[in-house]
Amino acid sequence: MALTDEQLERYSRHIKLKEIGVRGQKKLLAARVLIIGAGGLGAPAAMYLAAAGVSTIGIADCDSVELSNLQRQIIHTTDDVGKPKVQSAAETVKALNPDVTVRTYHEYVSSKNIAEMIADYDFIIDGADNFPTKFLINDACVLGRKPFCHAGILRFEGQLMTYVPEQGPCYRCIFGAPPPRDAVPSCREAGVIGAMAGVIGSMQALEAVKYITGQGELLTGSMLIFDGLKMGWRRVKLPKRVPSCPICGDSPTITELFDEEQQACSLL
Ligand SMILES: [Zn+2]
Repeated sequence: MALTDEQLERYSRHIKLKEIGVRGQKKLLAARVLIIGAGGLGAPAAMYLAAAGVSTIGIADCDSVELSNLQRQIIHTTDDVGKPKVQSAAETVKALNPDVTVRTYHEYVSSKNIAEMIADYDFIIDGADNFPTKFLINDACVLGRKPFCHAGILRFEGQLMTYVPEQGPCYRCIFGAPPPRDAVPSCREAGVIGAMAGVIGSMQALEAVKYITGQGELLTGSMLIFDGLKMGWRRVKLPKRVPSCPICGDSPTITELFDEEQQACSLL
């Protein structure tokens, strides 16, 4: 399929890059990415992936837009308050790029529906705002053999890592199980600087673009940690794979999906 004149112009800054070019742009125009959570991380990730021309973007979120979301969830506007986030996000994405097909999942992501949801996609973005969902995304991607980019933000800090089957540790290799309830404050309790969501969510989009086009080095086997107050990045090397990991280790004890105990809901 040849690119149209309009596409050649729209994606000209990608096409100029030797790492992307027409070939990479065609891969993006054929790729499917699922974003779980249309909040702080999912908002910039969805917008940059839409702008990049990703063929199909899935957006899963059960919440509606609240006024306190707008400080960082830039895919939603003041007029969207009260609307389902998936609807508001889909409208923004479609306005940004008519090349993109949006599929929305206005439902709570659980062990009942996640396997079917991720099956249709090439890459998954973890924009979830709570630990049980983050572990569920990991488990579903490990069992379903799907790559995903994990990220988390709090106060002035953010972190991200990418999982690709057979190429590095999974989220459970590093963190094992969710922390006890209330051990880690949520963004609602502790706050988060809005631009941190933009920085880290945009990097998740970048990981997806690199995976789709097969360029560069992914954050597999390392965790990038950003301190926005001191403007410092640390790239922490992770073990290749943890043999005792309950899901990707040598003798896995997790062989089917389950829901970790739901904690107090937090909003990114
Ligand atoms: Zn693992």
